[in-house]
Amino acid sequence: MTTVLGAIADDFTGATDLAGLLARSGVRVSLRMGVPEGPPADPAPFEVIALKIRTAPVDDAVAEARAALDWLRRAGAERFFWKYCSTFDSTPEGNIGPVAEALMRDLGAEQTIYCPAFPENGRSIFMGTLFVGEQPLGESPMKDHPLTPMRDSNLMRLLAPQVTQPVGLANRLTVARGAKALTARLAELRAEGVAHVVVDAVANEDLQTIAEACRDMPLMTGGSAVAMPLPGLWQADGLLSQAGAVSPPKVGPGAVILSGSCSAMTNAQVAAYRETGAPAFRLDPQDLDERSVTPAIDWLSGLSAEAAPLIYATADPASVRATQENLGAARAGEIVEEALAACALAARDMGRRRFVVAGGESSGAVTQALGVTRLDVGREIAPGVPWCFAESGGTRIALTLKSGNFGAESFFTDALDMLDR
Ligand code: ADP
Repeated sequence: MTTVLGAIADDFTGATDLAGLLARSGVRVSLRMGVPEGPPADPAPFEVIALKIRTAPVDDAVAEARAALDWLRRAGAERFFWKYCSTFDSTPEGNIGPVAEALMRDLGAEQTIYCPAFPENGRSIFMGTLFVGEQPLGESPMKDHPLTPMRDSNLMRLLAPQVTQPVGLANRLTVARGAKALTARLAELRAEGVAHVVVDAVANEDLQTIAEACRDMPLMTGGSAVAMPLPGLWQADGLLSQAGAVSPPKVGPGAVILSGSCSAMTNAQVAAYRETGAPAFRLDPQDLDERSVTPAIDWLSGLSAEAAPLIYATADPASVRATQENLGAARAGEIVEEALAACALAARDMGRRRFVVAGGESSGAVTQALGVTRLDVGREIAPGVPWCFAESGGTRIALTLKSGNFGAESFFTDALDMLDR
């Protein structure tokens, strides 16, 4: 089996999000954590490579993305997808634009599209402005993100300083007229030398139109949702065979929830889970800096196997700011990520097999600690958040990696219940 689509994601939860949506089609999806060391063996029709480059220095991000592209080309892929966050998490330096331009150069692509819209999760784009629910991005809780605060809402303005070639817009009035109209608009922009086209989308039908118009581009970029119609379109094109659903593998009991995301939604999820009376341990970055993660691990080892404990650093914007002023943002993030990673490893060694992780960077740290390099993608708990299955330390584990803003308030309970069903 050769790979039809090769996708590169800038963080781990983003990769599972994309992988989960592609897996809805029943086509086999393989998720790799980092660029695999060896050459492709048994590649799946959809290969997603998860990198941890959202906030990496630009040169490092570009180099890693190009290495991923090279591996995917060797797996046989001819179509590629660059996946970033549906809230366009980036800075004026990058990394969304620089990576896209590097991939375009390697592929000889003259043009690509940017569509982070995800209507099911409340992300929509109109006239180039990205909305989170009813708020423009720059007025949403994303303005307080610990690493990539988003203070503008206009995608052309956000992208322009990140790229060297011109940026343009294919707006909703065009998209609403269908795939042919969009194709014509893209050609018109190409003739004007516009390499980077932001495309409006406010509903799933728009994503269908965009995927239809762009499905043969060497490179598409966006959030995960615009990739959702691709499997169906390629099945109709005869590029992919129809696939039956695969039943999820059995995993042992014992769960732990690890939360390092400070998003508004994760704060609500942590509060809701604590209200269930489940055991919970709060990681304080200041404490972790002065002492270590040992108290958390001791606490964990004192719990019964049936308990599904929550270990969290999740905090509200004011306490995150206070911590960052004390420790520096990067150091605070690092301390928390190291602590979550150590807790994950300890939990596995205590016999726990089910891991719910909240936060993109946090998920990267946890999967790295668990030595997970490849995941089989299963059913979604919430849009964009599937359960995945992997080997860790010689045993099978289930993992779900939730991006900060995703899932309902009851997400942690939803996730655990779903594996029992
Ligand atoms: P999200 O998916 O919401 O962006 P991430 O895990 O990617 O979540 O990013 C959250 C970052 O904030 C991580 O680097 C994490 O270590 C850091 N962090 C978590 N808790 C705190 C805290 N209490 N104070 C400061 N930083 C924190």
